[in-house]
Amino acid sequence: MLSSLPPSDISTRLIIKQHSVMQARHMTTTHKDERPDPQDISVLVIHNISLPPNQFDNSYIEDFFVGKLNPTAHPFFKEIHQIRVSAHCVIKRDGEVIQFVPFNERAWHAGVSSFQGRERCNDYSIGIELEGTDDRDYTTKQYDALEQLAQAIMLAYPKITLGRIVGHNDIAPGRKTDPGSSFNWQRLRQGLCF
Ligand SMILES: [Zn+2]
Repeated sequence: MLSSLPPSDISTRLIIKQHSVMQARHMTTTHKDERPDPQDISVLVIHNISLPPNQFDNSYIEDFFVGKLNPTAHPFFKEIHQIRVSAHCVIKRDGEVIQFVPFNERAWHAGVSSFQGRERCNDYSIGIELEGTDDRDYTTKQYDALEQLAQAIMLAYPKITLGRIVGHNDIAPGRKTDPGSSFNWQRLRQGLCF
């Protein structure tokens, strides 16, 4: 098992090898499948999630993405525990990066979606979930980790340009609102002008 990125060490540059973030914590899920074209990785989608809603710093997101959410742990979980979704990576409130799906495989994060007229964004996108909500500030450690992760992704998958980093709300308008007004797009974009 690879060691996780120390949340305090934001100077460590993240490195992607063989579609994996070397410094991430890795978890295995069956909530994934093959991309129709593994060469086409051309959009980065930013999301948020919190489980239960508005609660942070537990392991329920990880449980949910690997299909092991305990339906009795919270009333909301009874409704969602059988939903099979995932993301390539989750960034926790302390900046820890957890990878669930290798980037060359298809994670199930976007649902019904369309980017510039092209549907089924899961086919050709990478999904990153920030532990958070639409209306609460994300942490500095999350921005630092996201900036590093997005930089590493852009280097590894050069079809992903600044204009092709979007929110879930952008590709599923009217259906999804994340990452929400709490997400500072300017901060991310400035950090990515390298
Ligand atoms: Zn989302």
